[in-house]
Amino acid sequence: MISLSQPLAELDWIPRAKLTALRRLEIETAEDLLTHFPRRYEDRSEFAPFPREESELPILLCGEVVNTRLVRFGGWKKIFEATLQDANSNALSQPLVLRWFNLHYVQKMIATGQRLVVFGKPRLRGKRLCMEHPEFEVIENDDDISVHFRRITPIYPATEGLPQRVFRSLIYRVLEELALDSVPTLLPKGVNLGTREHALHEIHFPTSQAEREAARQHLVFAEFFGMQMLIASRRSAASSRSGQAHCGPGELLEKFRRGLAFDLTDAQARVIEELRRDLASRHPMNRLLQGDVGSGKTVVAIAAMLLAVEAGFQSALMAPTQILAEQHYAVLCRWLEPLGVRLALRTATRQEESGALPLFDQSLKRKPRSAVSQLAVSGSRSDTAHIVIGTHALLYEGVSFENLGLVVIDEQHKFGVSQRARLTAREPAPDVLVMTATPIPRTLTMTVYGDLDVSIIDEMPSNRGKIVTAVRDPSKLGEVLSFMRERLEAGRQAYIVYPLIDESEKLESKAAAAEFEAWRERLRPFSCELLHGRVPGPEKQAVMERFRRGQTSALIATSVIEVGVDVPNATIMLIENAERFGLAQLHQLRGRIGRGEHKSYCILLSAEKSPETVAKLAVLEKTSDGFQVAEADWDMRGPGDLLGTAQSGLPELKLGNLKTDSQIMRQARAAAVAILEKDPGLEAPDNQRFRRLIVEERGRTFSNVS
Ligand code: ADP
Ligand code: MG
Repeated sequence: MISLSQPLAELDWIPRAKLTALRRLEIETAEDLLTHFPRRYEDRSEFAPFPREESELPILLCGEVVNTRLVRFGGWKKIFEATLQDANSNALSQPLVLRWFNLHYVQKMIATGQRLVVFGKPRLRGKRLCMEHPEFEVIENDDDISVHFRRITPIYPATEGLPQRVFRSLIYRVLEELALDSVPTLLPKGVNLGTREHALHEIHFPTSQAEREAARQHLVFAEFFGMQMLIASRRSAASSRSGQAHCGPGELLEKFRRGLAFDLTDAQARVIEELRRDLASRHPMNRLLQGDVGSGKTVVAIAAMLLAVEAGFQSALMAPTQILAEQHYAVLCRWLEPLGVRLALRTATRQEESGALPLFDQSLKRKPRSAVSQLAVSGSRSDTAHIVIGTHALLYEGVSFENLGLVVIDEQHKFGVSQRARLTAREPAPDVLVMTATPIPRTLTMTVYGDLDVSIIDEMPSNRGKIVTAVRDPSKLGEVLSFMRERLEAGRQAYIVYPLIDESEKLESKAAAAEFEAWRERLRPFSCELLHGRVPGPEKQAVMERFRRGQTSALIATSVIEVGVDVPNATIMLIENAERFGLAQLHQLRGRIGRGEHKSYCILLSAEKSPETVAKLAVLEKTSDGFQVAEADWDMRGPGDLLGTAQSGLPELKLGNLKTDSQIMRQARAAAVAILEKDPGLEAPDNQRFRRLIVEERGRTFSNVS
């Protein structure tokens, strides 16, 4: 008997070469093997009678090879032909000719006298009925028939070095020999979806489509439940960490609020109250703040940081790019220095970027580059500053905090899970606020951010001009240009965004330079500047700052401007080759305009007319609501792309689909939360079987910020 956790290497009937191939697929144990689920199924429950005519539908036949031959033509080209005869009926039924062109290996696999099962479309070729390049399997014995045919047959994801049949036979045998008592059912009480053992049988070798669906329900529930148990346990572990209250009385916040040129939106005020409650509690805060681009998350973050500062703690604000960190620093200096708040900026510096950041410390501007100093510092020393702003440099070398009370992570989807954990794993636990402008459909929030509390800013500041989005063919560039010039003449500014054509440094700068020249010509006499990833850091800041001050009319840029850049007077965005960007990214880009009171215009240039592209770009014309864009994106591309891979930190789902199975996810979540609330240590006899679910596997982590 085989137990579920048994390493396959212990089974003496699996040849070593196959074990190696399995290992490449990360299949080591019986359980790994049995959770390598079929990609699809073929209903092979019945063989068709031998055909007499052509058919548009592929059919499944079983017969005997009575003849093979190799036909050469045109020099080295070959056709291999095998004649298949109906083994059951009389010799009068017409034989079928199977044909393969230039497929050497087929010739080696098929010989006269063999029984074959073939799947393909019968076609008339001259007078003969043929099947060209059919799928086929050779039947070696009657067991083969019972495993591979006369049933709903599983087809597995491509497995190099392991043909379908071999793989299928392996699974078949392991299932046959599986010790029943080694398969615990990992569903919560009250969920009646049969045993796991039965589900595993039925998912691989279904006795009917209905049974297969039932098995899928069981296994998806189990998969989601395992995930939710892990998330829920992380959450309860995080909230039981020793924490401190980090909330001052709010006078500083009140001063800040009165100094603002605008009133907070109701949504902002509501979220600030949510944060205040969390900060005042001794439990460490783990909160996700979602708000569409431009909804005003920064102000909310500042409010929280001021509460912490007033209580005598330092706050850190971490941004994903240097541009963004610099921008935050500039904004915070303007708003907070008058209130007596000390600020420091810390950004990672690559070799070419090392040295001072000229915008903020003129005296350092001419200092020679230092290869030693990898950190650029502006403002106060970080251990004496009230608020330290930075990129992921904050995570590394020698950034010391005196008493860190609050960590704010901006555009958190740009960070990996482990990076976050690094900043937040100190003792005592700081409060943590992560912010994202990527609207996330609810089912995803429950998984990817399942261990966080969620606040949502669902309201835009009222002073915002509308954004009109239009898709245009490049042949209309002339009209677009005159429109742009009109806006520029009215004093507005423009972004022109083009996708990276090539990742290589040389080609990229070349492409950028060419684009830049072209645009300078087109927009003359308005001033243009160029911004892309290869522009050295300090220069990047300078370019950005000139644009911010309105000294530059148009910024020709790659998607480096995607995140967080805030220039209210920029009201035009033209995106070239818009089809090359994803929906979510286009929405982010578009969020750079529509930030002031003027009406804004986003022009998506694209020559591509494929239905997918047209549909994708039409979404943006239709709505400027980030949630709707995200839903559409999800429909079109699936959650993997929506989230990016680096930051989700989730184990890959093997079976469940976050969108179509969202109902099951909700149930699984409720069950997991209920169990852990009652029995956090999983002490109850009936709960002990769940302990294995919350063991961290292979260092995978969820979005825990603990
Ligand atoms: P995001 O949520 O995309 O990070 P920001 O925090 O950068 O947005 O805010 C975008 C702009 O809106 C900033 O210029 C900010 O000062 C401004 N802003 C924030 N809140 C309000 C408000 N309640 N009314 C008007 N403008 C606001
Ligand atoms: Mg922002």
